[in-house]
Amino acid sequence: MSEPIPHAVHRKLARAVGRAVTDFGMIEEGDRIMVAVSGGKDSYTMLHLLRELARKAPVRFTLHAVNVDQGHPGFPAERLTSYMTREGYDFRMVREDTYTIVKEKIPEGKTYCSLCSRLRRGILYRVAHELECNVIALGHHRDDVLQTLLLNLMFAGQLAAMPPKLAGDGGALRVIRPLVYAAEEEIQAFSDAQGFPILPCDLCGSQSDLQRKIVGEMISDWERKRPGTKAIMLAALQNVRPSHLLDRRLWSALGLEVAPAEPVDSEDARDAERAERALIPGARLVRGASLDDDASTA
Ligand code: SF4
Repeated sequence: MSEPIPHAVHRKLARAVGRAVTDFGMIEEGDRIMVAVSGGKDSYTMLHLLRELARKAPVRFTLHAVNVDQGHPGFPAERLTSYMTREGYDFRMVREDTYTIVKEKIPEGKTYCSLCSRLRRGILYRVAHELECNVIALGHHRDDVLQTLLLNLMFAGQLAAMPPKLAGDGGALRVIRPLVYAAEEEIQAFSDAQGFPILPCDLCGSQSDLQRKIVGEMISDWERKRPGTKAIMLAALQNVRPSHLLDRRLWSALGLEVAPAEPVDSEDARDAERAERALIPGARLVRGASLDDDASTA
């Protein structure tokens, strides 16, 4: 008999977080982790899963949930506060009216998000120091990572997604993203099942980031047409072949003079084969070749 979906989803998400934390050494003994909670499904899920991890992980760390009330009209702060109290989280609500600043600085009709999130980041860094936290956890998930990858590729001329771990505030803080392997639809299902008290995210009146929306819809469309596309895209980010990119600095940093020979029978090659078949049914694999290797024109 199959397991009820929420349990299966819960287990998958817990595994995804455990794997990301391990793969990138996100958490160390004695860490004080400030968890940025916006009141959306992602940050509630992250907080919940990190608490479970803290209870069973071999390293000891503590969690300190923080929300920034940015002064958006009608922000239901008490909904978040009462949830945190009920759940027994160490929680702080920080009130800073960035909304007025953003409204003043950004012309009517333009999106506020860039300035708004920069101001929020500055506040989070400051509060982390006040709480003596050395780590900040952010709730970006797999779908955010994939959207950022395509946005950078198509609009910024860069091949970059989101770092799972980075040095923030000039190296004074470690910023981690424990949900980088977690699928948004599973987070949504988990959040629905848990009944998290979601706060509305449109109180600022800003238009959402149009390009991100377009790219997100594009990826979802691919996923609908070829289920598994998002998983393959995520796998690609974990299977980078620098010698097949054209970044001279990367070649130089890796000391490359020619592209190294491909492994023919490795697990990597089998993964590539599976990925290729999933994307292009009936495609013939050229051993050791990527999707964009064109043996016929060599
Ligand atoms: S959607 Fe609103 S609250 Fe969120 S970053 Fe943009 S301006 Fe700020």
